[in-house]
Amino acid sequence: GHGDGCKAKKRLTGSPSASVSPQSDNINRAMCEIIWLFTTRHSCLEMLCGADGELPEKLRNLEPRLIEHVSNEIMDRDPNVRWDDIAGLEHAKKCVTEMVIWPLLRPDIFKGCRSPGRGLLLFGPPGTGKTMIGKAIAGEAKATFFYISASSLTSKWIGEGEKLVRALFGVASCRQPAVIFVDEIDSLLSQRKSEGEHESSRRLKHSFSLKWKVSIVEQQIDPKNLMKLHGGDSPKDFISPCLHQARAWIVRNLLEKDGLFKLSKEEIDNICNLTEGYSGSDMKNLVKDASMGPLREALKQGIEITKLKKEDMRPVTLQDFEKALQEVRPSVSSSELGTYDQWNKQFGSLS
Ligand code: ADP
Repeated sequence: GHGDGCKAKKRLTGSPSASVSPQSDNINRAMCEIIWLFTTRHSCLEMLCGADGELPEKLRNLEPRLIEHVSNEIMDRDPNVRWDDIAGLEHAKKCVTEMVIWPLLRPDIFKGCRSPGRGLLLFGPPGTGKTMIGKAIAGEAKATFFYISASSLTSKWIGEGEKLVRALFGVASCRQPAVIFVDEIDSLLSQRKSEGEHESSRRLKHSFSLKWKVSIVEQQIDPKNLMKLHGGDSPKDFISPCLHQARAWIVRNLLEKDGLFKLSKEEIDNICNLTEGYSGSDMKNLVKDASMGPLREALKQGIEITKLKKEDMRPVTLQDFEKALQEVRPSVSSSELGTYDQWNKQFGSLS
């Protein structure tokens, strides 16, 4: 209970108890919960040690703080996305299954003329499921998932990017099979800055292109750079905003999970017709907003939020969606989409 949490906090900070007003008591309670979560963290270095208590050979020459950072912030032990959570994107799923998941599960079969490509580039507007695909790969292939944003390497980790990448590969090689998800790779490729930075970003590119397995890019990048990094023969794919069916699936799936689903097939169809051009993440936001409708209505009738029973709320209706549609607009414009389409025609594997 809260009491225990507060005691834990006192033990931690050693601070004397102080009398508090009711309002700050609420804040304190919230803080106790957070501290309780915080104290459950293990040392990541410890977790990487073998039975002998020693760090694996590969990690001994790396800076412990960088290993800690990779383990804490970049490695995701339980990405918790399954193939079935992803709506649509059938072609991308098929490509990824054959090119990444099967080789990870059966390296013995994927040798010789079946040896897998060095990288897979998924490109498309934000919020269309690229990160989900990366996480699902890790889940399906029982691999550890690492997420790194290339733009953070050149902005937040200036001068240290290369060291961090080395730590990343070090930890990943101790946690094989591993999927390394490199987001916003375009920021790395389009760097044109001072001499010194140019050199370090060149080395960064080099260390990536030597080792990468899966990379996922969000925005337009110079195709010439892309070809260079991929050796010119990598398959690419276009992740587009959801198709009609996929949008229906997201609405149904999210509402059913929470027991809020009562729409007819016609109503779902209606919602899908009104959401042409919405991405997966737009759809999620739409469902979120619509699902607030019944709650807002119940509260308007004077029920207090703390006394509200779930049964007091009606299911989500088409009208809730119509209202939500005024708030949640598609995040990708059709002209932006046109650019991705062109790109896809030129370089993609979908025609
Ligand atoms: P991206 O990496 O392309 O920017 P994400 O994979 O991070 O997009 O998607 C953001 C969120 O939007 C996801 O966590 C998910 O809730 C929702 N989403 C996006 N695309 C899909 C999809 N195809 N199926 C189901 N949910 C989706």
